[in-house]
Amino acid sequence: MTEAGLEPGQIRAELASWVGQHWSPDMSLREWRELLADSGWGAPSWPERWGGRGWPAWTDDLVASELIALGAVGAPVGLGMALAAPTLLAHGSEEIKQRLIRPILTGEQTWCQLFSEPGAGSDLAGLSTSAVRDGAQWVVNGQKVWNTSAHHADMGMLLARSDSQVPKHRGLTYFALPMRQDGVEARPLRQMNFHASFNEVFLTDARVPAENVVGDVGGGWPVALTTLAYERRFGAMRPPRYDPRAGRALDEARAESDAHFAVYSWYPQRAGRADLVVEHARIAGVAGDPVIRQAIARLITLQRVSAWTAERTAAARARGARPGAEGSVGKLALSNLAREAASAHSMIARAQALLTGPESPMNGTIAEVLLSVPAQSIAGGTDEIQKNIIAEKVLGLPPEVRVDKDIPFAQIRARG
Ligand SMILES: Cc1cc2nc3c(=O)[nH]c(=O)nc-3n(C[C@H](O)[C@H](O)[C@H](O)COP(=O)(O)OP(=O)(O)OC[C@H]3O[C@@H](n4cnc5c(N)ncnc54)[C@H](O)[C@@H]3O)c2cc1C
Repeated sequence: MTEAGLEPGQIRAELASWVGQHWSPDMSLREWRELLADSGWGAPSWPERWGGRGWPAWTDDLVASELIALGAVGAPVGLGMALAAPTLLAHGSEEIKQRLIRPILTGEQTWCQLFSEPGAGSDLAGLSTSAVRDGAQWVVNGQKVWNTSAHHADMGMLLARSDSQVPKHRGLTYFALPMRQDGVEARPLRQMNFHASFNEVFLTDARVPAENVVGDVGGGWPVALTTLAYERRFGAMRPPRYDPRAGRALDEARAESDAHFAVYSWYPQRAGRADLVVEHARIAGVAGDPVIRQAIARLITLQRVSAWTAERTAAARARGARPGAEGSVGKLALSNLAREAASAHSMIARAQALLTGPESPMNGTIAEVLLSVPAQSIAGGTDEIQKNIIAEKVLGLPPEVRVDKDIPFAQIRARG
């Protein structure tokens, strides 16, 4: 028995019986997800009234993998489930949860994150996209950047400045922005690894209904911190391995997953591909080289330690803890791991590591690793920012000097 009185074997048996009675691959994906939402199997850790069962967080992963093992389909993948829903559940009004949670769970609406700007990344609270109230709506103007999947998202988690006469952290508001409108233009950006996952998003008199404010007007900062804390938990993402048989729900789930993961196809390479390093050394004929063996041993050690850190974080979450500073420790560990893996692959392949195409090391994967790994220590907060968080929140060191923290935002801008 676990601490919540739930036992994995019991959960599996109950789920198998329910799936046996309800699942058919011939129904539409939407119909199936409605059943999942009604039964609480879609997101068991969510509260019962919002489509869950109020169970501990570890049950989400158990149920998701068990649904696939049973040949069925689970909740959608994507930023809606990972970031938007937990943020709405923590800070949203009853009315906004009523409107926006279920379409996330059924996969009807996908989300993107509209936080970063050309002049505001690490210093996110210094952003300048403005939101001005106009009757029953807010009018938004500005530019966002680095916005993954914004080109096909239905909704955006938007952080904008609603008051520039107060200090920067206090003048922000968090909105659920409808993306499919004239005032929103998403332009894909081409990356050095040849993929195009991100966008610049231009907001020109974009409209948001007043009831789409998440949390309080001017209280967007703590809401954004919740989203960022969930983002730091992100690890390597892998597409679900759905049952290969035909069937409408399965076909639609595969199409949904393909569309979603198309922009993430390089993310395993971004994490460094430590899993390939032994095979790579064998293929290259250098597995007996003592220096390379040491590099591999160091890498595998780091990988194990990083996995234990992730397990500790998962255990804390299962006990009901909100994600906190341990997410920063885990994220930093993943950056170190990615760099060590890229370095080991370079030692093995030497100058050929730069080659791409069918005759290059591991069919171009190694070159993609080298070009993708830098993103690991930027996305979701840079390494330096994680170190600042650890210094303050874990080690209790004095906070960074922040001279612009207490003066009105408009004055910071005026001082240049
Ligand atoms: C793969 C990927 C996906 C992303 N997806 C999204 C997304 O979907 N939505 C979104 O809104 N954003 C997204 N981002 C943006 C990301 O959050 C920012 O790039 C990140 O926060 C860094 O901001 P910046 O690029 O403006 O760098 P800057 O903040 O300008 O930093 C430049 C350098 O200065 C250092 N630095 C800055 N401040 C400090 C400080 N106080 N102390 C010490 N060093 C400091 C940084 O560590 C860095 O080395 C994504 C980024 C990547 C790489």
